[in-house]
Amino acid sequence: MASGSADCVFCKIIAGDIPCHRVFENDHLLAFLDIAPLARGHTVVIPKAHAERLDQLDPEVVAEIGRRLGRIGRRVVSATAAEGYNVLQNNGSVAGQVVPHVHFHIIPRRSGDGLGYRWNAKSVAQDELAALATRINEAA
Ligand code: ZN
Repeated sequence: MASGSADCVFCKIIAGDIPCHRVFENDHLLAFLDIAPLARGHTVVIPKAHAERLDQLDPEVVAEIGRRLGRIGRRVVSATAAEGYNVLQNNGSVAGQVVPHVHFHIIPRRSGDGLGYRWNAKSVAQDELAALATRINEAA
C-alpha cells in the first residue's frame, strides 16, 4: 500500500511516526489539517504512495484523488462555514512545492479573508498559442 520515503515528512505522517489531525483516510489517501494553515480548516490531501510530482503518481491513484477531492472540499467548507475554497497543487520548488510528496491544499475562503494570489495574465498571439498547443499535443 504505502511506499514510503525515509526522509519524507508526509510519509512519516502516513506511517504514524508524526501525528496529524485526520479528516479523511482510505487505502490510498490521507487528508489532515495543515499545521500552518492559511485559513481555518486548511486541509492537505496526500496519496499514501510516495511520489514527488503529480505526473509521477500512478494514474489510478490520481483518479482516486479526483473521486475524493471535491467531497473532502465540501466537508471542509461545511464544517468551517466557509463560502468557497481553493484547491492548490504545486509541482517543483519553482512552483512553490515545499514538501516533495504530492499534495493538494484545500483552502477554505471567506469574503474579506485577505488571502490572494498573483495572476499576472499576459497577452499572446493566436498563432503562438496554436504552435504551442501543437507542441504540447506532441510532447511525451
Ligand atoms: Zn513521501
